[in-house]
Amino acid sequence: MRRLERYIHPYWTFIFFTVLIKFLGAVMELMIPWLMEVMLDEKVPAGDPAEILLCGGLMLLCAALCFGCNVLANRMSAISSGRITKAIRHDLFHKLQSLSARQLDELTVPSAESRLTSDTYNVNQLLSRLQRLGIRAPILLLGGVIMMLIMDASLALVLIALLPVIAIVVYAVTKTSVPLYTKQQSVLDRVVRTVQENITGIRVIKALSKTEYEKQRFHTVNDELTAVDMKAGFITAVTNPVASLTLNLGLTLVVVIGAYRVNSGQIQSGVIVAFLQYFIMILNAMLGVTRIFVMWSKGEASANRVADVLILPEDLTVLPAEAAAELAAPHIEFRDVSFSYTGIGKNIDSLSFRLEHGQTLGILGPIGSGKSTVLRLLLRLYDPDSGTVLLDGQDIRTLPREELRKKFGVVFQNDFLAEGSIADNIRFFRDLPEEALRRAAEDAQAAFIEEKEGGMEADVVVRGNNLSGGQKQRLLIARALAADPEILILDDASSALDYRTDADLRRALREHYRGTTTVLVAQRVSSLRHADLILMLQDGAVLGAGTHEELMQTCEEYRIIAETQMGCGREAV
Ligand code: ADP
Repeated sequence: MRRLERYIHPYWTFIFFTVLIKFLGAVMELMIPWLMEVMLDEKVPAGDPAEILLCGGLMLLCAALCFGCNVLANRMSAISSGRITKAIRHDLFHKLQSLSARQLDELTVPSAESRLTSDTYNVNQLLSRLQRLGIRAPILLLGGVIMMLIMDASLALVLIALLPVIAIVVYAVTKTSVPLYTKQQSVLDRVVRTVQENITGIRVIKALSKTEYEKQRFHTVNDELTAVDMKAGFITAVTNPVASLTLNLGLTLVVVIGAYRVNSGQIQSGVIVAFLQYFIMILNAMLGVTRIFVMWSKGEASANRVADVLILPEDLTVLPAEAAAELAAPHIEFRDVSFSYTGIGKNIDSLSFRLEHGQTLGILGPIGSGKSTVLRLLLRLYDPDSGTVLLDGQDIRTLPREELRKKFGVVFQNDFLAEGSIADNIRFFRDLPEEALRRAAEDAQAAFIEEKEGGMEADVVVRGNNLSGGQKQRLLIARALAADPEILILDDASSALDYRTDADLRRALREHYRGTTTVLVAQRVSSLRHADLILMLQDGAVLGAGTHEELMQTCEEYRIIAETQMGCGREAV
C-alpha cells in the first residue's frame, strides 16, 4: 500500500476526519452498556422517574449519534476510497497504453486486465474497510476491555482469559486461509485467460473440432478453482462457529460467576447485563480485526501488482536527433538488423535492405519466418537488439512517437473493427473529410459499401462479425489508405480477396499512391510479384532478395513456391 501512497496523500485530511467521526461513533457505542448499568443499578432502585427518563434519553442520544457518525463516516470512506481508486485506475490505464510491445509480452494481456479490474477493486475494498473498521474495531475491543475492568475487574478476567483462545483460533485461520486466497486469485486469473482465449478463438476452435479439448481445458482449471475455493471455505467455516462457541461459553461464565458475585453482594445485577453486551461487542470487534487482516493481505498483494506496472520505466525512449540526415538517403533502410523476442535465438538475423520513395517491398516466407516481425521493427513496436532501422536516413529511434506513427497506414492480420458505422471504422477517430473516406473505400475495392443499406452509414457490429472476411479486409485497407500515408503496410491483408479484386487493388495502389512506399507481406506470389524488392525469409534470415525475375533465377525456394502457385512461373493475374 505504501507504494500507492502518492494517491492517498491528497486525501489524508479527509481520511483523518472520517476516522475521527468513526472514533466518536465507537465511543458513543461504548457508552450505551455503561449507561444501562447505571440505570439498572442506581436509577431504577432510587425510583426517580425523571432520572430514569434522563438516563434512557442519554442512551437514545448515544445510539442516534453512533448511527449518524457511522453513516456519515461510511459515506466519507466510500468517497475517498472511490476517488483514490479512480485515480489509480486512470493512471494504470494510461500506463498500459504506453507500454511497449515487449513490456506487454512480459506482463501478458489477461494479467493486465485483472490488474486493472479485480486488483484495483481489492485496493478499493481495503481502503474503505480500513477506514470503516480500522479504527472502530480496535476502539471497541480496547474500550470494551477497559470499561469491563473499571466496572468489575474480577468478572473482566473471565473475558481476558478467553481472549487468547479466540486470538489463537483467529490467527491460525488467517494464517492458513490467506495463502489460499492468494492462490484463489491466481487460479481465477487462469480461468479468465482460458475463457478469453476460448472466446477469441471460438471460430477456429470449432473449425478444427477442438471443442472437446477446450471443454476439457476449462474443466481442469474450473476443478482447480473449486478445490481451492472449497479448501478456503472449509478453513474459514471454522471461524464463525468457534466464535459463537466462545461467545456462548463466555456469556455462560459471566452469568454464572456474575450471579455468585451478585449473591455475595460484590456487584449489582446491572453489571452482568452490561458485561454481556460488552462481551458481544468485543467478540465482533475481534472478528472485524480478522477481516482487516484478510483484506490487508489481499489488498496489499493487489496494490503491489498495480504498483509493479505503474513503475515500469518508459521503454522505446526517443533518442536525441542526430546530425542532419544524408541527402540521398533511401526512404526505408534496415541496416544489419538483428532481433530476438526472448533473447534465445534470433527471430531476425542481420537483415539489410533499402527501399526508395514510392517503391514496394514484398516479404514472403513460411509461417514463423519473421515476416510480421520485420513490420513490427519498422513500426518501432520493438527496438532491434543490434543494427538500425532508418527512415529518410534518420534512425527511427530519434523520431518523436507521434511523428513516426503518422507516417504509416497499417493493416495487420486479424485487425480490429469497432462497433459503429462503416465511415467510423474507416475514419477511426481521425479528422478526415468525407471525400477522403470515399476515395479510400474506392481504392480499397470496397464497392460492397454502396450495396449496403445506408452505404457509409451502415452498421458494423462488434469485431465486424456482420461482414465477410474479404469485406473486413477491404474496410481495413480503406482505413489504412484514408489518411494518405507515407508508408503503407499490408500484413497478409489481401489473403481473403479473390485474385481479380487483389489485382484491382494493386492497380489502384500503383495509380493513386505513386509516392507511397508499400511494404506487403503475402502468401501469394501473385500479390507481390510486381514489387521492386522481394525478400524471401526463413527462420529470420534472408534466403533471397531481388525482383521476381531475379529470384526466379537465384532463389530455389522462391522458384518452387512461384511455380507451385502460378503454374510453372507463367504469368498470373
Ligand atoms: P510470420 O509473420 O513470418 O508468420 P512472425 O514474425 O510473427 O512470423 O514470428 C517470427 C517468430 O517469432 C516466430 O517463431 C514466433 O513464434 C516468434 N514470435 C512472434 N511474436 C512473438 C512474441 N510476442 N513473443 C515471443 N516470440 C514471438
